[in-house]
Amino acid sequence: MRKETQNFQAETKELLNLMVHSIYSNKEIFIRELISNSSDAIDKLKFNSLTNVELLNDGKDFKIVLKGDKDKGTLEIQDNGIGMTFEEVNENIGTIAKSGSKAFLEKIKEAKENKDLDIIGQFGVGFYSAFMVADEITLLTKSPLSKTTVKWLSNGDGTYEIEEVENLEDLVRGTKIILHLKEDDKDFAEEYRLKSLVKKHSGSIKYPVMLGEEKLNNEKPLWKLDKKDITDEMYNEFYKSTFFDTENPLMSFNFKVQGSLEYNAVLFVPDRTPMDFYTKDYKRGLQLYCKNVFIMESAENLVPEYLRFLKGVVDTDNLSLNISREILQQNNELSKISKNLEKKILGEFSKLLKTDREKYIKFWEIFGQTIKFGIQELFGLNKEKLKDLVIFKSSFEDKYVTFKEYVDRMPSDQESIFYVTGESEEMVKSLPKLKALKEKGFEILYFTDRIDEFTIKTLSEYSGKKFKSITASDFKLNEEEAKKDEDLEKENKTTLDKFKELLGDKIAEVKLGNNLGSSAVAMTSKGEISLEMEKTLSQMPGNDKVKAEKILELNPEHPLFEKLKNANDEEASDLLEILYDQALLIEGFKIENPIKFAEKLNKILSK
Ligand code: ADP
Repeated sequence: MRKETQNFQAETKELLNLMVHSIYSNKEIFIRELISNSSDAIDKLKFNSLTNVELLNDGKDFKIVLKGDKDKGTLEIQDNGIGMTFEEVNENIGTIAKSGSKAFLEKIKEAKENKDLDIIGQFGVGFYSAFMVADEITLLTKSPLSKTTVKWLSNGDGTYEIEEVENLEDLVRGTKIILHLKEDDKDFAEEYRLKSLVKKHSGSIKYPVMLGEEKLNNEKPLWKLDKKDITDEMYNEFYKSTFFDTENPLMSFNFKVQGSLEYNAVLFVPDRTPMDFYTKDYKRGLQLYCKNVFIMESAENLVPEYLRFLKGVVDTDNLSLNISREILQQNNELSKISKNLEKKILGEFSKLLKTDREKYIKFWEIFGQTIKFGIQELFGLNKEKLKDLVIFKSSFEDKYVTFKEYVDRMPSDQESIFYVTGESEEMVKSLPKLKALKEKGFEILYFTDRIDEFTIKTLSEYSGKKFKSITASDFKLNEEEAKKDEDLEKENKTTLDKFKELLGDKIAEVKLGNNLGSSAVAMTSKGEISLEMEKTLSQMPGNDKVKAEKILELNPEHPLFEKLKNANDEEASDLLEILYDQALLIEGFKIENPIKFAEKLNKILSK
């Protein structure tokens, strides 16, 4: 029979080292990790047995058994799941093969530096976490595909022993893990401790978790229970233990659908963006079960991209069990479930928007951007479904409003929905044009997210009203105002043309600005590319040459305008340069040459 002593792979050693020196104060989570490995192992066995019934020859009485021995200071966790062959033990327990564990290692190191140990709970820390409480671990495992039992032993230093051993009477199939507890952690062998830990961390494991004759958990899966029997506490515990979060979810949903389409779903919206949400490692999708058998971890086609933040479980009886996971991805039944789920979820969001604005805003501030992206993606395919879920802050009361609320209280002669773009609420609120319009009684939406204008472009209109930026050069309140402005513009045409000439190519036009309030200048743009778009695009590689056609607007009511008109060319040129830079600054751009700006300003100041 084979016997080897092996070195842990370097990264495993690193992880082990962190575990042995117990980086995490919340050591008790090792029990959640081991029980969940056992539960996964039973899932795997059940899944594989769909195509190979013989795997179940040693029984179908699935369970996870705990045994604590205070005197010896040991704790055993045993399951009758899939077990591992010799090669599998080497592969799975000797190395960190998965990118997930590597990511975890990175995060731990970061967290350790920042003393932010809370984040560790967000990851599945895995088998090695047992070294937080044990100074020696023995793993015995028997795969139904192998004749002999495998024994693995390590005390968390650089090496482990692995050997084939005689089969054990009490381990016909599955895995038994024996922890020799550290001196300070011996209480993990105590019955009362085990009971409370299992209740806390593994209460909703699907298989019986036994301590002697006593079953510690309620293994009927949550989604199979009657809705009225499920408390908030149960949803929260299920969410945290299934999706490795330390916080309760923001929302929980439970759908039981019967009829031609049949499924149970328990879904959650996390109460913060998951750590890797914006990386390619993030796995969208829901856990899929069929007739209580676990099929896959993240069935992507169960939720559209714009609901990628949803976590949860879907269980359906309507799938044929022996189709491959790849084929499942295009399965017709699943698409129907997905469509149905999408409708239900959107219904819930819209209900929440009406009944609990505060909670909806919390949701929006975490995941609103994802919904806005949903409007843009697929050439606006989903925009009709989503447009009434969108909220923006507005000048009305600096609160969030829907498009519908905005349109419903628009003055009858207002033709478009007004918006203003800028980096922050603070900034847009201080724009002269906004202040002036607000005083006149108009409401303006604040677009402070870089993607807002792109979203609006896809939407193009709401309830027949186009969207209009108050900082666009062709912005006009109404016909009467437009006429007045036009006359004034004509009167000053030669002066303005001269100003344009003095400023040169950086500006497309110099105009008189309306609604500038007490400000001397404003920057606007004409054409396809807005100022805000120029800012966004300039940060993407290859797009830094994309420029908005800028228009400098001068306030005819400001004393500086008179001064400009009466100045000689040199003075006018200096003043215009300063005003141009000022306008850039107000709009949140950098000025091109700060030194020149300072020189010109000083020249004028010292006159
Ligand atoms: P993870 O559970 O995140 O994959 P672990 O470090 O906990 O990472 O486990 C590594 C691998 O070892 C598992 O993916 C699985 O293949 C195997 N394994 C762990 N525990 C068991 C068990 N009780 N039965 C069978 N295989 C197991």
